[in-house]
Amino acid sequence: MPVTRSFLSEIVALFGQPVAENPTQAMHERAFAALGLSWRYVTLEVPPEGLADAVAGMRAMNFAGANCTLPHKVAVMAHLDEITPTARKIGAVNTIIRQRDRTLLGENTDGKGFLRSVRETGFSIPGARAAVLGAGGAARAIAVELAVAGAAEITVVNRSAARGAELCRDVADQTGVPARFEPWVGEWPVPPGVQLLVNATSIGLYPDTDAVVPVDRCSLRPGLLVCDVIPNPPETPFLRRARAAGAAALDGLGMLVYQGAIAFREWTGHEAPVPVMRAALEEVFGATSST
Ligand code: NDP
Repeated sequence: MPVTRSFLSEIVALFGQPVAENPTQAMHERAFAALGLSWRYVTLEVPPEGLADAVAGMRAMNFAGANCTLPHKVAVMAHLDEITPTARKIGAVNTIIRQRDRTLLGENTDGKGFLRSVRETGFSIPGARAAVLGAGGAARAIAVELAVAGAAEITVVNRSAARGAELCRDVADQTGVPARFEPWVGEWPVPPGVQLLVNATSIGLYPDTDAVVPVDRCSLRPGLLVCDVIPNPPETPFLRRARAAGAAALDGLGMLVYQGAIAFREWTGHEAPVPVMRAALEEVFGATSST
């Protein structure tokens, strides 16, 4: 009997450690199914010493792409053929894209997903003054993308002064946008000129869901857009506090969905089914997002 159909599937992988509880697979598998694509997304536990072999393996098996999460976002760059200019500025890659010639391109969609989520609220980034709490991977992606998108000034507030100051130097050097560091002592008062405040720390992440980001509640006010990167649970005490003070609040679920949607389009060439992806995550988290 002649074979009348192909049993080949396109594969996208997630490399991380620990990675078992990462929900990204649920989101992309649901999206592939919604579009009727014969694609699979597999979550793979890869230790740091196995990363080079993992990337070589994805080349050998012709994977369509991959996501990288902790601890690989920086180290993976050395194993790729090309890095996008923004990922280079951020200094980290969360998405690998197989190009037409089968070379591997490193991109960072975290900050882009954040921007898309912010724009959806109607907030205009060009000329805005932003404050970013944290200086880790998420904060780097957000601060650089805000600067590239035309923010007028970025204030970085971080517990570790050295890490915070380094991020400010990188943002200013890479984008030309002024970035200044403020040490985080007690409850940080948001300066009156700031229009966008982002919690890019891990404070509030499951299972520490009662932890509140130390920001002076009297400095939260109407006219301020307060964002949280925490996707699980999306409704954080920080956002509740912001809303109670009359500020607008934006949760981290949108960022997670959109960073995935941007990657999905790059891998498959199809527009991502965003509502399907959001519903899949809400199911995993047992939550409903709020804006
Ligand atoms: P990192 O470990 O790289 O950075 C963590 C940051 O949080 C650091 O700036 C650290 O400060 C700060 N921090 C942690 N605990 C405290 C605390 N108790 N008080 C003050 N500061 C604290 O992590 P990532 O940047 O990769 O991730 C941060 C969060 O962003 C995670 O919760 C992750 O789930 C979320 N995230 C969400 C995404 C989304 O799509 N919604 C995408 C990517 C990440 P210090 O430097 O002083 O240690």
